[in-house]
Formats: sequence, structure tokens, C-alpha cells
Amino acid sequence: MRAELVAVGTEILLGQIVDTHSAYLSRELSKLGIGVYYHTSVGDNWSRLKELVEQATSRSDLVILSGGLGPTEDDLTKEVVAEVLGLELIEHTLSKEFIEASFTERGMSVPPSNYKQALVFPNGRVLANPNGTAPGVAVTQSDTTFILLPGPPTELYPMFMNEARPFLEEISSGETVTSHVLRFYGIGESHLVAQMEDLIRDQTNPTIAPLAKEGEVTLRLTAKAATEEEARKLISPVKKKVLTIAGRFLYGEDEDTLEISLVKRLTKVGKTVAFAESCTGGLLAEMVTSVSGASTVLEGGVVSYSATAKQELAGVPGELLDEHGTVSMETALAMADGIRKRLDTDYALSTTGVAGPDPVEGKPVGLVYIGLAERGYPPRAYRLDLGGSREKIQIRAAKHALFTLLE
Ligand code: ATP
Ligand code: MG
Repeated sequence: MRAELVAVGTEILLGQIVDTHSAYLSRELSKLGIGVYYHTSVGDNWSRLKELVEQATSRSDLVILSGGLGPTEDDLTKEVVAEVLGLELIEHTLSKEFIEASFTERGMSVPPSNYKQALVFPNGRVLANPNGTAPGVAVTQSDTTFILLPGPPTELYPMFMNEARPFLEEISSGETVTSHVLRFYGIGESHLVAQMEDLIRDQTNPTIAPLAKEGEVTLRLTAKAATEEEARKLISPVKKKVLTIAGRFLYGEDEDTLEISLVKRLTKVGKTVAFAESCTGGLLAEMVTSVSGASTVLEGGVVSYSATAKQELAGVPGELLDEHGTVSMETALAMADGIRKRLDTDYALSTTGVAGPDPVEGKPVGLVYIGLAERGYPPRAYRLDLGGSREKIQIRAAKHALFTLLE
């Protein structure tokens, strides 16, 4: 089934509101196994909406329009669809009574313009709207089904869930679409894709879609099948193949970001962590504390930005700083080791580097050292040469630090 979504409203074209309905409806339709081929936005304009509805009739099996079911002159979605389909709108008694009741309950008489909200398609379906005055309407004509939903989110969401979705389940084939996301760090998108080019190209069910973001790469495996369980069975062997190629860069699955993965991992093994941050300025602590349940694993951290703070807060010996400088492998090691001992944790991470825009101690922008200390082992440190803006360097340094502990 080929579907398209039309968001009606001049506010969208003016940039006053963002069309979040189409994003929501697309997600919901994909769960029903219905493929969405187009998203269009159009103003409250008779001729342009009409043109769009005509086009949709010829290219789609399902058209969902949102907005423009209100009582005013500029609300014209239903009227335009009726004209294109050559249908005469008829009054729906129940909706009319519902509209009358909702006004008289508030001691008001019904404004004449509201009566047009009770008009529906003959032979169509009426989608009840307990949260507003306009019912939704659905009608199928010459192989295309139209569903019209009201614009206000408080009306559209429940109407979709309670009225439109069951209707779609009836008319669609019932195939579900299931996705599984694999999250990688420490490997570039092009590199990852190059290593599994054939697999990605030849794979149709599930499909494999790569996506890169801030130093991370995700692969989305999406399968279609009659049930979610069957879809998962299709995904499983392909996931195995992907992991034999790039498994060592995998850090999490589905919704598990680096920070969520870290909290989960440490919780599972009952270990704690502390941070001594210089160039990331508290970002590590912020990322980890954003995860609920962080208190089980995070003991605390310091932002030891200056040389003095590195000594006072992270316990880095002054001579070491004099000898190697604040941005060095040795300092990263000493920061991680120092904070781990001070807070008596199982692990500690440290960052020290040059976030830019200017070099520090003759060291180039983007040079970052990550320290990792672990109880019972000598601390380790890693050198990164990062590119991009100050903010990018900081985010990548923080993410890399988290990944270091997940590896
Ligand atoms: P009303 O009776 O309120 O006029 P309506 O069905 O005519 O309802 P619209 O006038 O198009 O709907 O939109 C009403 C409100 O719903 C908008 O002001 C906006 O806040 C929200 N809305 C409409 N369309 C969208 C959309 N595509 N995405 C997000 N919000 C939307
Ligand atoms: Mg309106």
C-alpha cells in the first residue's frame, strides 16, 4: 500500500509551526507496514489543495490529510476532497448533536459556521472526536482511501490511535515493519560502509541503512513480515553478518546511546566511575547524569581546567605538569589515576586537550588525551587528533572517553 501525507495549513508554510503530524503519522504507518512515499505541506488555499488531492488520487492508495477541518472559511480540506471525488457532503446526525451539546453545555448557542463540521462523506466512515467538535472522516473511492484528521494535536493523536489505526489495520495487508538499530563508535561511516558494501547492496529484507552523527555511526536493519516476531527472525542472521565485520566497534543497540550503554554496563557488573575533565568541561558528567539510574554508577567528577585545579582537584603532581605540560599523555594518566584514588572508584576517565580555537603550549587544536584508570591495573591513555569546531571537539572527546570504557 502506497501512502502519502498532506499537512494542510498556511502556518506551516510560513514557518510558524512545524509539521510534526507527518513525522508522527509516518512512524505509526510504518508500524502497520504501510509505506509512506510523500509528505507534502500546502496552505489553506482551494486551488492548490485541489491540485494536490488530484495528484494524490492518481499516485497513492492512501492519503491522510491533517488540518483544515475547523469551522471557519479557511478550513476547506473536506470540501476540496469532496469536490475532487465528486461527492456531495451530507449531515451526520450524531456529530451534529455532539456539536450542539458541546456548545449548550457551556451555555452557548451553536455558531452557524460550526454546523459544517457535522458534514461527512456519503458511504464514508466517521471518526469520532471526543476532544473537539470536528469529526474525522474517511472515504474510499476508485482504489484510493482518504482519511481527514483535525489539526490540533490533542484531537489528532487520539483520533489516529482509536479510530484511524483500527480502520487501517482492516484495510492494509497487515504486514509489520520492524527496525533494529546497531550503534558503532570509533569507525567512520564510509569506512564501515566500505567494509560491508556488498551486504548493504544485496540486502532487501531486512534493508540496511547507515547514518552518521557526531563521530558515531548507526546501522538500521528494517524488515517487513506478517508479525514482529517473523521480522526479528529475518533481522537476526543479517545482524550476525554485520557483527562479524564490525562487531568490535559496536557499543549499543536500539535506543542505547553511549551514556546509556555505559550506565547499563557498569550497573550490570556493579562497578563505579569518576571523571576528571579538562577540555570537556563537565560534559562527561552531564552526559552520564542525564541517564536515569546514573547514581548507582557515577561517584562524581571534577572539572580540573587549570594546572592548579589539576593538582588540587585531581591530584596531579606539580612536577609532572611542569615536565610534560597540561595537555599530555602523562597528565591524562595522572588525572584518571588521581581522581580514581581520591573517590575510590573502580574506574575513572580523564580528558585533557586543545579544544581551540587557539593552540595551547604549542600543541595543535584537536589534540586530546583520554585517560582510563581501573582498580588493580596501571592506568592507560589514548591520543586523539580531532577536527572541527570547539564544540565538536569537546563532544567527540567526551564520546570517545565513554567509548574507551565500553570497549
Ligand atoms: P481548528 O478547529 O482548530 O481550526 P483544524 O482541523 O482546522 O482545527 P488547523 O486550523 O489546520 O486545524 O490547525 C489547528 C492547530 O493544530 C494549528 O494551529 C497547529 O497548532 C496544529 N497543527 C495543525 N497542523 C499541524 C501539523 N501538521 N503539525 C503540527 N501541528 C499542527
Ligand atoms: Mg483551522
